[in-house]
Amino acid sequence: MLQSAGATAANQSQTDIAFQRCINPSCAATYEARSVRTACDRCGELLDIAYEWDRASVPAKLSDFEAMWSRRYEPMRFSGVWRFHELLPFCRPDEIVTVGEGQTLLQQADAVAKFVGMNPGQLHLQYEGMNPSGSFKDNGMCAAFTHACMMGAQRAACASTGNTSASLALYCSATQKMKAVIFIGSGKISYGKLSQALDYGALTVQIAGDFDDAMIRVKQISEQLGIYLVNSVNPFRLEGQKTIMFRILEALRWQVPDWIVVPGGNLGNSSAFGKAFAELKQLGLIDRLPRLAVINAAGADTLYELYERRGVRWNDGKVDMDPIRAYNDHMDREGLKADTIASAIEINRPVNLKKCLRALDTMDGVVRQVCDQDILDAKAQVGAGGFGCEPASAASVAGAKLLRREGVIAPSDRVVCVLTGHELKDPTATVAYHTTDQEMFNKVLASRGVQKASHANRAIAVPNELDDIIKAIQLYS
Ligand SMILES: *Cc1c(COP(=O)(O)O)cnc(C)c1O
Ligand SMILES: [Zn+2]
Repeated sequence: MLQSAGATAANQSQTDIAFQRCINPSCAATYEARSVRTACDRCGELLDIAYEWDRASVPAKLSDFEAMWSRRYEPMRFSGVWRFHELLPFCRPDEIVTVGEGQTLLQQADAVAKFVGMNPGQLHLQYEGMNPSGSFKDNGMCAAFTHACMMGAQRAACASTGNTSASLALYCSATQKMKAVIFIGSGKISYGKLSQALDYGALTVQIAGDFDDAMIRVKQISEQLGIYLVNSVNPFRLEGQKTIMFRILEALRWQVPDWIVVPGGNLGNSSAFGKAFAELKQLGLIDRLPRLAVINAAGADTLYELYERRGVRWNDGKVDMDPIRAYNDHMDREGLKADTIASAIEINRPVNLKKCLRALDTMDGVVRQVCDQDILDAKAQVGAGGFGCEPASAASVAGAKLLRREGVIAPSDRVVCVLTGHELKDPTATVAYHTTDQEMFNKVLASRGVQKASHANRAIAVPNELDDIIKAIQLYS
């Protein structure tokens, strides 16, 4: 149904200060928050969740949120997402669904800072793998899941490289409110992620194709069967993901860092970060914005190609589509498929491309690509200096190192790299890097152009003899 901007306000329920709005400024059609859409009816563009902020009760300063810590007995304030409810007020407090997501950690990582070429104390790692399902996806899923419940959905679906499906499956199993239907491509999904979907009881559909194929199918199927779609075309997901930035600010005692560095796949995270900071600025809660660096894997570098090589920009919403179409045609003609060890960002056609272009514009952003070798070396450094992460997450650290080398990031800048997923999501990649088994190294890594594991921590083989074991420990420790 088509709705004009004027009609919507009248249709909104008395309490709703939220609505959905087309991101295309020359359309700007608006729709009720309490409706299910993944695109603008009028022009087909992505939708934002927008708010009538003057009717909202937003705290006067960010530090007012610290008062929520003393109310951790309330599930809503225990959640690292919903304790910022005032900054994503699309639902009533009694409608909120939470499984305790967002209990994550900002680590001052001096060992990693040294590897990156930063001054001590200036590099921070935001560990989003500490979420209940082991990735940042829970931040967005609790918001989309809440909206799905508000809409009375019985089933929810997604296509996934693994973590979105793990997250959806967990919200379904832990709340018993819905049935999860997940679509995965063939072959690529890591066992850590697949095991979660299966264990949490999701209906798992493995189609013969890659992520981009699965994405097309899940859109068709959710429309035909009326299943609620939770992929990051769902604008409510991005509302939840804004809180990653709020928690970073909180951990930095509300000081704005100089850089946020994040891996880019479907570009939901980077888009959400841009929206978070734009809104904080608009609300007068911060006085300056950090810069944004989005890091592609070299084997899945569509954003890099479009933004840095072909000069595609947000341009006040008038994005030049010609270079985008030309590049898509080029990928089709050459049969180019995304290929990287960082499976979570192995995506050729990022669905949130335009929102990400807007975020890059808002935050004076840059885009870089890093190869699998650099990703795995960075990942080994993260593990050796902290709590570890999955390959895609380490793209942020490899990207920070590259930007440091280029002089774009200064050693004295304050940098936060977002580590999107848990180490245990993809143990195969980790073991293959550290292994002494040449066959395994070749199969998993050398086939992808990874030549050496310079930061490997290899197991030492010893005979089962006490003397030999003691000798080995003394030699190596
Ligand atoms: C989903 C995912 C990404 C990519 O995030 P986007 O928002 O799609 O750009 C990166 N890392 C991990 C671990 C993920 O699960
Ligand atoms: Zn529109």
